[in-house]
Formats: sequence, structure tokens, C-alpha cells
Amino acid sequence: MAETISNISLAGIVKRYGDVTALDGVSLVLDKNEYVSLLGPSGSGKTSLLRVIAGFERPDAGTVTVFGRDVTNLAPHKRGIGFVFQNFALFPHLSVYQNVAFGLVNADTPPPADEVRRRVTEMIRLVGLTGLEGRDIGQISGGQRQRVALARTLVTEPRLILLDEPLGALDANLRMRMRDELRNIRERLGVTFLHVTGSETEALAMGDRVVVLDRGAIAQFATPDTIMNSPANPNVARFLNRYNVLLGELRGDAFVTAYGDLAYGKRIESSDGAYGIRYDRIAVVGETAPSAGVEVPVTFVASEYLGSAVMYFFEAADGHILEVEHHLGKGRMPEYRSREKYKLQWKPEDAIVFG
Ligand code: ADP
Ligand code: MG
Repeated sequence: MAETISNISLAGIVKRYGDVTALDGVSLVLDKNEYVSLLGPSGSGKTSLLRVIAGFERPDAGTVTVFGRDVTNLAPHKRGIGFVFQNFALFPHLSVYQNVAFGLVNADTPPPADEVRRRVTEMIRLVGLTGLEGRDIGQISGGQRQRVALARTLVTEPRLILLDEPLGALDANLRMRMRDELRNIRERLGVTFLHVTGSETEALAMGDRVVVLDRGAIAQFATPDTIMNSPANPNVARFLNRYNVLLGELRGDAFVTAYGDLAYGKRIESSDGAYGIRYDRIAVVGETAPSAGVEVPVTFVASEYLGSAVMYFFEAADGHILEVEHHLGKGRMPEYRSREKYKLQWKPEDAIVFG
């Protein structure tokens, strides 16, 4: 994999903890000045990967090259990499100002005092905390703490910042606002962010590109649009939480399932056979409505109101639950009767098949 002075390159990273292989040969090149989301289910190796890049863990195999420099055997604080932890890891007995200044003051060769003052003040302004410099960490809100954690990392001017679920501890409202702020701050500084998230919505909304990790290996690395429209395999489609993934077998032009042969538009080569149709590409019609496109007979189970959309859950003959998303922008919320029979319909060209 090409490594140059202007990118961050991981080559064949393996990390084992006893019998567990947390990272199973990860190779990846991040460009300078890009926002990369790292998405994967719990236990897929996201934190392990960040810790290996940062230098908190030594890989069993592979190399980490940051802007042309092999840092695999370098101590964490010598790598020029920033880390923002999920729990913020701030110093509770220090003020906002002191927390932000900490990395500079305690550097191997600290900058002169007036430069520390200038950089800390500027960074506190950049993250919107001016006026709170003297507060204790216990006297500010969760969102403000998140900003201190970010400022404390940014002030040391790393060119790569690793963020491990940095919004996970915030409530939903604040999380939305911090998403925009993170993107803006990163753009202004021109640094590379590698942002771990367990939320597919966050990964797709924030990343210029998204890495999908599955059991310690990269399943896909592409733009949000490509991942959304062409997930590399059925597992990626499942992680996106936007696709019904039906099991069966590809036989020529049809995908054979327990509820008949389903037509499809696009085929994605994969060792696992599966059929994917997005939650928002499905119409619900009555049991006796005329046939159209692809059809699956189902029974209505339940619905869930999400504010801007409603999710409907239907059960197919084999017990598989299919989800249908209705955006409320499309009109008022339809109501279905519990345990009544319906048909789900979609256009073959909206469906993808893996096999
Ligand atoms: P994620 O951040 O995606 O949830 P992790 O990188 O934390 O995943 O974990 C990947 C795998 O490695 C999991 O099976 C986890 O149990 C294991 N693991 C992580 N850290 C350790 C450790 N310090 N000791 C033993 N096993 C670990
Ligand atoms: Mg983790």
C-alpha cells in the first residue's frame, strides 16, 4: 500500500489479546485533511485500532506510518497524534484553562510561557469556551467538558486526531450540535480526524469517508454514499441499520427465499448470499391489492414513532422481521392493524443481491 509523506498508512496490523485476535491484518491509508469515520459493532476492534495507532498498544505485526515516519515503536507522546477519549479523561482538580494547557506545559520541551498563553486562549476561543477558563471541570456541562477534551488535544497541534466515541456520553440534542462543531473545527484546522462511532447515522453524516470494521478486518472503506448504495457484503448492510437483509440463495435472475423468488436490480459479488432492500424503499398494501414488482406477504407486528419518521415491523412466513420506514414528510402516518395480513412491495431495481 502506497505510503507517502502526506498520508497516514497502516500496513498489516495484527493485534492479539491472548486467544482473541482483535485486529486481523488491517491495512488502511488515510489522507491528510480528511474526516474518516470508523464504524463497527461492539467488539469489532475499533478501540484496539485507535490504541495501536496512538501507541498505547504495540501490534503483534504490521507498521504504522504517520506522514512518512514509521512510528510503530515510538512512545505515544512522540507520535504527533492526538487522542480524545469517550470519557473525556479530564483532570478534575484542574481548571478549564489548566486542562487545555496541560499538554503544552508538560511537553518534553515546553514552548515559552507567552506562547502557551496565546495558544491556549486561542484554542479555548475556537471551541467556544471563552469566559469559562477559571471554572473547575466539575462546574461545567457535559458538552463543555467535551469541548475541553477536544481543545486539550488540539492545542498540541497534532496532524492526526483519534476520537473514540467522543459524543457517546452526550444527550441526543447536544450530540447533533457537537457533530456540526466537530466538522467545522476540523475544517478550520485542516487536520485528519479518525472518529470511532457505534452509530451508523453519525458515521455516515460526519465522515468524508467511512471505514467499516467487522471482526477485526476492514469490510469496506468508501464514501458514505457508496457504502449506503453499495454495501460490500451483507454484514455491512446490516451495520447500516437501513436495510432488510433477507437470507436465501442466488439462482440466476432470482434470489430464492422462503417466500418465493425475489427479483433484484444490482448484484454485489460476495461469498455470503443475501438480499437487501432498504427500509424506506418499501410500500405496504392490503392483502388483496394487485401485484406489483417484488412482493412478500407479511403480518403487521408493531410500529415505533421516531419523530420525523415511523418504523413499521412486519413478520414474514419464516418469522423474519421486515422493517418499513415512513417519513412523515411524505404525508400522515398510516395505521395498520395488529396481526392483520398485508403485502410489502418494492421495485426490483431498488433491491441488491449479494452472492
Ligand atoms: P470495539 O472498540 O470495536 O468495541 P475493542 O477493540 O475494544 O472493540 O475489542 C476488540 C476485541 O478485543 C474484543 O473481543 C475485546 O473483548 C478484545 N479486547 C480488547 N481489549 C482487550 C484487552 N485489554 N484484553 C483482552 N481482550 C481485549
Ligand atoms: Mg471501543
